[in-house]
Amino acid sequence: MSDDLLGRHDVLLADLDGTLYRGPDAVPGAVEAVRGAGERGVPTVYVTNNASRSPDDVAGHLAELGFPARTHDVRTSSQAGAAMLAEQLPAGAAVLVVGTEALADQVRAVGLTVVDSADGAAAVVQGHSPDTGWRLLAEATAAVRAGALWVATNVDPTLPTERGPMPGNGSMVGVVRIASGAEPQVAGKPAARLLQEARDAGSSTSPLVIGDRLDTDIEGGNAIDAATLFVLTGVSTARDLLEAPENQRPTYIAADLAALTRAPDDLAPGPRDGWRAEPDGETVVLSGDGGGGGPAGAPPRRRGGGALGRERVDGHRARRRRRRRLGPARARSGLTPRDWQRSASGHVGCLTGVRTRRAAPAGPPRIP
Ligand SMILES: [Mg+2]
Repeated sequence: MSDDLLGRHDVLLADLDGTLYRGPDAVPGAVEAVRGAGERGVPTVYVTNNASRSPDDVAGHLAELGFPARTHDVRTSSQAGAAMLAEQLPAGAAVLVVGTEALADQVRAVGLTVVDSADGAAAVVQGHSPDTGWRLLAEATAAVRAGALWVATNVDPTLPTERGPMPGNGSMVGVVRIASGAEPQVAGKPAARLLQEARDAGSSTSPLVIGDRLDTDIEGGNAIDAATLFVLTGVSTARDLLEAPENQRPTYIAADLAALTRAPDDLAPGPRDGWRAEPDGETVVLSGDGGGGGPAGAPPRRRGGGALGRERVDGHRARRRRRRRLGPARARSGLTPRDWQRSASGHVGCLTGVRTRRAAPAGPPRIP
């Protein structure tokens, strides 16, 4: 099976939440997919923007769920952020840590000194902690305004909770940004540093970046010129995919990680038998029912239940606000935004098995 997707790559750089697990549970099939890749000689590096937990804790959680994860298989944005500080500061320099003890440990591990006030701070590092309050943000603001180096582990505006999205590190970074007028250096996805470190730790030459978010995982993978696999098991939806700007378009699209053992051509965006995508004003209309047979090895069609089954991409409306953001740029593959939508629509229809509002067209698909 060396002609499948796994056969093209020597390491998987996998996102965690929404890709390998959702809350307390593993995504169905994810453990088997990661274990299967390992048995084929393709290891997984677990890459997370969450700076609040130590690599040891992250590996422990993954192992409880059944993933073959050890501490050194985990790369966190706090590790990448600490490395960025160490490169730019003399040994022992004072760093104001706005974050958890896990982040402070990473700062100490690279030979720097952790402090809790702006006085004498050569740098500020900011990562998520549910305990961050005004006084510490004020210290960070004072340090940044005085010229301290400022590194953010990540700038995710929200983080998922059982009560819905809540302020993430990017929101707290925004407080200091507004108050100081400065911009931080960023370690986590979609910035390149975290994924670069994950790739280089194993001397990989052909990594596959896997994730559920187009604006972090896929954009980050594109930033390091890696192949990317977008899975529809987490945050970003089929609609997000169709509206994705150039730097957020994945190399491969799949329902879930079972795709690792499928042929790459079946996973690349493109026309699919039995589906047709046609522009209609500001709308791209997807029609058909996959009755043309679909590509060999295509995933089973799903209906009802789960984020995938609820998604509807027929009658997709590319709103003017979004279209302006797409701009005139051409895709990595040379596709215009409209051509990208037409191309990806067929694939999404094949993946999701959505019914159309319009009757299935007579005759063969017209898109080559
Ligand atoms: Mg995720």
